Amino acid sequence: MSQRLLRVHQLLPASQANGPGTRAVIWLQGCTLACPACFNPQTHPRQAGRGMTTGRVMSWLTSLAGAIDGLTVSGGEPLQQMQPLLDLLQGVHDSLGLPVILFTGYTWQEIQAMPQSPRLARLVDVILAGRYQAENRLASGLLGSANKTAHFLTGVYTQADLDAVPPAEVLIQPDGEMVLSGINPLIWP
Ligand code: SF4
Repeated sequence: MSQRLLRVHQLLPASQANGPGTRAVIWLQGCTLACPACFNPQTHPRQAGRGMTTGRVMSWLTSLAGAIDGLTVSGGEPLQQMQPLLDLLQGVHDSLGLPVILFTGYTWQEIQAMPQSPRLARLVDVILAGRYQAENRLASGLLGSANKTAHFLTGVYTQADLDAVPPAEVLIQPDGEMVLSGINPLIWP
């Protein structure tokens, strides 16, 4: 695979609250969509986070094979790194065969207008699309707000599978860092 650079906010090797089963999660860095009351503003600056080649991210995912049921990609705004994202997802598809869930702030209509949309749709199983709207907060079924839409591009998952995902989790990383995650994450006092 090519070695394009992804700007990464955070990697999580095993999450139960970002899709069905145990999943690796990649939060990509950088988002210009500016949803008011965004829950993850530290992911907005494009130059924050760290640069990782797609090959290095693939090596990380390969090291997890057998321990995870799928991959979730979130942000930040993943589709603002479309080309390296597609390279990574192609590698996941070809080498690992993991189901992929993608969170994006772009609407389904906006995604379909993107020239890479057909390729993206071949590499992703579920797309959760649309801006976060605080006034329509939902925080269930992996939908942050009621305007967001779930698109099941393969038969791997159903809405019932997403509804069964725990809304929050607290994870202690090997280095002692505490990660609060999920569609309705706990707010630490
Ligand atoms: S698209 Fe996501 S990361 Fe970007 S501003 Fe909206 S909620 Fe925040």
